[in-house]
Amino acid sequence: MTIRLADDAGIAAAADHLRGGEVVAFPTETVYGLGADATDDDAVSKVFAIKGRPALNPLIVHVAGPDWLEQLVEPDSRVDILTDAFWPGPLTLVLPRLPGCPVSKSVSANLGTIAVRQPDHTVATALLAAVNRPLAAPSANPSGHVSPTTAQHVEADLGDALDFILDGGPCRSGLESTVLDLTTDTARILRPGVIGSDELAAMIGDVENQTVSTGLVKAPGQLAKHYAPNLPVRLNADTAVKGEAFIVLGGGPNADFDLSPSGDLAEAAATLFAALRKMDDPSRFSGLAIAPIPDQGIGLAINDRLRRAARGR
Ligand code: AMP
Ligand code: MG
Repeated sequence: MTIRLADDAGIAAAADHLRGGEVVAFPTETVYGLGADATDDDAVSKVFAIKGRPALNPLIVHVAGPDWLEQLVEPDSRVDILTDAFWPGPLTLVLPRLPGCPVSKSVSANLGTIAVRQPDHTVATALLAAVNRPLAAPSANPSGHVSPTTAQHVEADLGDALDFILDGGPCRSGLESTVLDLTTDTARILRPGVIGSDELAAMIGDVENQTVSTGLVKAPGQLAKHYAPNLPVRLNADTAVKGEAFIVLGGGPNADFDLSPSGDLAEAAATLFAALRKMDDPSRFSGLAIAPIPDQGIGLAINDRLRRAARGR
């Protein structure tokens, strides 16, 4: 396994690797992705195997820009508006596949739809340009675990299973993209993220929030248990009880980790996964107690991840 610095030579080597049908972990503005040529069935199957991801959970396809959509998905009048406003950026659009779309069907988990976005990160941009193909890239963590926001997180999780990690430093946004379903007349958020429903509704009208898990897997990020550390997680804690790590926002006594000393939710989102990983240490703690996070703006997406981290054990 090599961690390579994401300089020009590192990016060129990663692109060669991807074009040869291999898997590379690379940084985006949200989290690190486990990338493979989305048009190569064998390469995509390696991603599912390395993550231990169930085949029914589809992958997000990363593209170099909105022009790629013409080859991949059915046209939709809302797409231009949204890509003008939010791409490159942490907004994933779910659209019906075009007949003849070159993306591997396993990427779509046979749903007949594709989730696609243009990442806003110089390394991801350079890599997509060098490969000149769409890259299927879920978060670079074992299925169900906390997403990685540094190359070292990826190494700790998948170092044994993966031979190439491109190190572009810590991810600045830190929460996975907002996933927006455009396959119905009313757009629907399948996974909340930093781009919220109000911002989206201002562009395209009504947007439903569908964050409650239903039996039907439209988006695996909706599964009740996801983003989970090994230690038990307790939410809305006023204080830690014996043995727990206390994770707070905006200061307070007896904190073991402060997601943002100034109470800034964007900063808290960017630090959240690193905090969960750092505190997820059974040699130091017996559980994680997390102070209340305001349920507004980016706090909605943070609380969504925290609820899933706390659930289903
Ligand atoms: P991750 O790969 O870990 O970032 O998770 C991928 C997310 O992409 C899932 O949680 C889904 O929300 C979403 N996704 C990918 N493909 C589709 C699709 N075809 N339809 C709906 N959601 C999708
Ligand atoms: Mg994930």
